[in-house]
Amino acid sequence: DLRFGYPAGGLRDAWATELKALLEADAAIAQAVVDISWRIHSHKVQGELTPIPGVKNVLAVASGKGGVGKSTTTANVALALAAEGAKVGILDADIYGPSIPRMMGLSGRPDIEGEAILPKVSHGVQTMSIGYLIEEDTPMVWRGPMVTQALQQLLNETRWDDLDYLVIDLPPGTGDIQLTLSQRVPVSGALIVTTPQDIALLDARKGLKMFEKVGVPVLGIVENMSTHVCSNCGHEEPIFGTGGGEQMAADYGVDLLGQIPLDIQIRMQADGGIPTVAAAPESNLAEAYLSVARQAAARLSRQARSKKLQFPNIKILDT
Ligand code: ADP
Repeated sequence: DLRFGYPAGGLRDAWATELKALLEADAAIAQAVVDISWRIHSHKVQGELTPIPGVKNVLAVASGKGGVGKSTTTANVALALAAEGAKVGILDADIYGPSIPRMMGLSGRPDIEGEAILPKVSHGVQTMSIGYLIEEDTPMVWRGPMVTQALQQLLNETRWDDLDYLVIDLPPGTGDIQLTLSQRVPVSGALIVTTPQDIALLDARKGLKMFEKVGVPVLGIVENMSTHVCSNCGHEEPIFGTGGGEQMAADYGVDLLGQIPLDIQIRMQADGGIPTVAAAPESNLAEAYLSVARQAAARLSRQARSKKLQFPNIKILDT
């Protein structure tokens, strides 16, 4: 019996077969039965913050710069965790450019039940976004404190249903809003998305330091748009340079969780409301996201566990 601290649905059968063969190679073992399962625990969050009801772990996806593929990575990593067997949600906190509704093929207002907002579900993933509450072409003319308040409300008043992971798509940058969120939202681990380009890496480094300062473990770096393979002739060209993510990971002693190529399928599938992991689950591109998701979840499973128990509110009434 093997029990992992992260979902491993995609690898379970292959591991079980391999282990069974290895065990049975021993003459003393006539027949081996291998059972692989997982249990996802709640991991420690910053300081005195308490976990959100209905959510075991919050994973923050951040980038220094906009347009590096943070939302695309959030959507695909969330779908990958779900495909591996976890219960997953996405909170779109990119308040000035909420792109999760479009990427997940969702629109319209969420349902309300009593005081709670019900998440909208797509491809098996629960989602909430400010994009559901405003028109798509309406700019958000809100100042920082209003933004952080609105996001905290979305986070706390959504009725998340028993999530193992809530993946938050943070607004790009390391300004006031990002800092406030990284201090107030109980996060168990962060992923930093960057392209290999120097100008993106400079900002990504600031993002990484911000999480270190507020005591959120950085689970690793995802290098997006690593290389481009021409769909016509197969020629490979590193449009945004090479080795940037690897260098940054080495400089800060964090892991490079994976490298995602620049590929027209990723863009088209996200634009079409069915991100790559859901649209082409057997593809090499989906495998790249699945590997990032497994690496991140496995690293999180090695972090300290949360000691704060999630008790329901108990009221004693004199009736
Ligand atoms: P961010 O959230 O960092 O602003 P997005 O995820 O919105 O970035 O991505 C910006 C644009 O780049 C989108 O049009 C998206 O479809 C595209 N994109 C992101 N990653 C890739 C990739 N690996 N290959 C091709 N297009 C990508």
